[in-house]
Amino acid sequence: MPQARVYFSDLRTSAKENLPSKLKRLMQEAGVEEVVAPRNLAAVKLHFGERGNTAFIRPVLIRAVVEELKDLGALPFLTDANTLYAGSRGNSVDHLRTAVENGFAYSVVNAPLIIADGLRGASFSRVRIDQEIVKTAFIARDIVEADMLVSVAHFKGHELSGFGGTIKNLGMGCAARRGKLDQHSDLSPKVKRKKCVGCGDCVEHCAQQAISLKDEKAVIDQKRCVGCGECILICPNSAIDVQWNADIPLFQKKMAEYTLAVLKGKEGKAFFLNFLTDISPACDCYGHSDAPIVPDIGVVASTDPVAIDQASVDLVNQQAGTEQSCLTRCTDKGEDKFRGVYPKIDWTIQLDHAEEIGIGRRGYELVTV
Ligand code: SF4
Ligand code: SF4
Repeated sequence: MPQARVYFSDLRTSAKENLPSKLKRLMQEAGVEEVVAPRNLAAVKLHFGERGNTAFIRPVLIRAVVEELKDLGALPFLTDANTLYAGSRGNSVDHLRTAVENGFAYSVVNAPLIIADGLRGASFSRVRIDQEIVKTAFIARDIVEADMLVSVAHFKGHELSGFGGTIKNLGMGCAARRGKLDQHSDLSPKVKRKKCVGCGDCVEHCAQQAISLKDEKAVIDQKRCVGCGECILICPNSAIDVQWNADIPLFQKKMAEYTLAVLKGKEGKAFFLNFLTDISPACDCYGHSDAPIVPDIGVVASTDPVAIDQASVDLVNQQAGTEQSCLTRCTDKGEDKFRGVYPKIDWTIQLDHAEEIGIGRRGYELVTV
């Protein structure tokens, strides 16, 4: 199989070309015009950052992505799906407010923000993929309905997948709440009895009548529960939580299979960017972001979602670790920085499985722009 091309731009700029202009040139050289047709509704999938996090991609750089798509005649909108946990992005109202607080206002990014899975994360399309583990995926409806997809991922460490890049931005990030729970756990949510005050809100909300009150505490009937995850969000006392039981290889494989589902129907209509900047050790879903584990590197672009993640992890590992970070092992150039932060996580699983199921290729040629 021929190698994929991954285009790389470092962060050097001059009076002749600033970073937003360089970013547009990167997109052009990586072939973005080949995936855009006039009046395409273009979902630009990114992470707006949890409240308190500061490592997410700068909104002014997202504006450059938007402008390039508009120049090609597309109708871009910025999007993400609601989170599984009840943080500052658990429903569309909180999510949009957090996005604007983090700088993603219309006046900055020049595009509307649409939370793709509806008010409470229940708006999804079932996408049949019949893979080894996932048969049907639950993908945020507006991402499925968009004519094309541009993934703009902030590349960083992740406690379950080693790193989070394009595959994570798509497979987990585009899943509706039910799809996220599907990837994180094989079990129904659990009730923390000490926190439950027996208000009954979850009982009323559960469409499957899977929750009842016993001795003034909520009880979930595993047989009735379909794993939509909505009760986690509904409980005013945060008394319902995910049973984080997913084993790591299974989690990564499911995430790759969900990526396949997100890209189904968008063959030749998807483009990927990874920002290798503020490479924090953990996900932007936390309300803080620890010091970067390596210096800023640049931005990569590709039409291959596997090659771009492989190239990104290689570029990170070529760097020496930053001294004032949590990275205390594998700090030399060439050593595995993500193994350094998460010694037990084998991040190759997501890439191997993604390649196996035909999403893309791990082999790549790096083209410097
Ligand atoms: S909504 Fe929360 S506090 Fe109220 S009954 Fe359900 S679990 Fe208990
Ligand atoms: S996850 Fe959904 S179906 Fe299951 S108990 Fe909660 S609300 Fe009901």
